Amino acid sequence: MIIDAHSHLGYDVAFDLDNDENLLIENCKKYGVDGAIVQPFIPRPYVEDYKAIHDRIYKLTQNKERKFWGMSSMNPHFRIEEYAEETERCVKELGFVAAKLTPIGHAVNPASRDGLACCDVVRKLGIPLMIHTGNGGSFADPIQVAKVAEEFPDLVIVMAHAGSGGGSIGTASYIARTHDNVYLEPSWVDIAALEGMLKEVGCSKLMFSSDVVDNIPVELAKYRTAVKKETDLERILSGTAVEVFGLK
Ligand SMILES: [Zn+2]
Repeated sequence: MIIDAHSHLGYDVAFDLDNDENLLIENCKKYGVDGAIVQPFIPRPYVEDYKAIHDRIYKLTQNKERKFWGMSSMNPHFRIEEYAEETERCVKELGFVAAKLTPIGHAVNPASRDGLACCDVVRKLGIPLMIHTGNGGSFADPIQVAKVAEEFPDLVIVMAHAGSGGGSIGTASYIARTHDNVYLEPSWVDIAALEGMLKEVGCSKLMFSSDVVDNIPVELAKYRTAVKKETDLERILSGTAVEVFGLK
């Protein structure tokens, strides 16, 4: 089974990227991906725009051709009651399995006052939080994730991109190895770095994801080449995500 743990829907105003439902479904079929956890691309900074893309993701989760799960993403600089209300709606009414914080897209340091307040909302809802790391300067440095992980040891955190693009892959691996509540999602990590990561943290803390649909076959080839044992490969391609996000 193959589960893509980091996939996007909608139009991203920060990165000028666009993904629609058909593209997601067709690419899952084309590359043999059984299901994906889908989060919003960054919409315009209005609560109603975030609600609209969450509703679109919910509709996609009702699709019968492939299995989809929702991951909420709210601008962390909204009023905390607005952040909390919409995140709670996503979890309790729409059945979403996780939330996302994007330091580069949302201009937030996860360990800042606003960042930590959002992390606490997610923690109280009992779902994992995915935090973008790598590209995006000091806000996206995995060290900020370590601060969150230590502040909230009962919050499960998945480091998206495992520090890739920011020169901090080694830091990300070290933090995942030394913090029980931190997992790695190594999209965009090169194969040599992935091989180091496999040795340092092991497959039980790693999960496959594409981030953008054209990257699906590239990421799959990376794991199929680097991971020698079939059971380890299965763990990375679906097992870790199933366990961490409680997928059914
Ligand atoms: Zn992404």
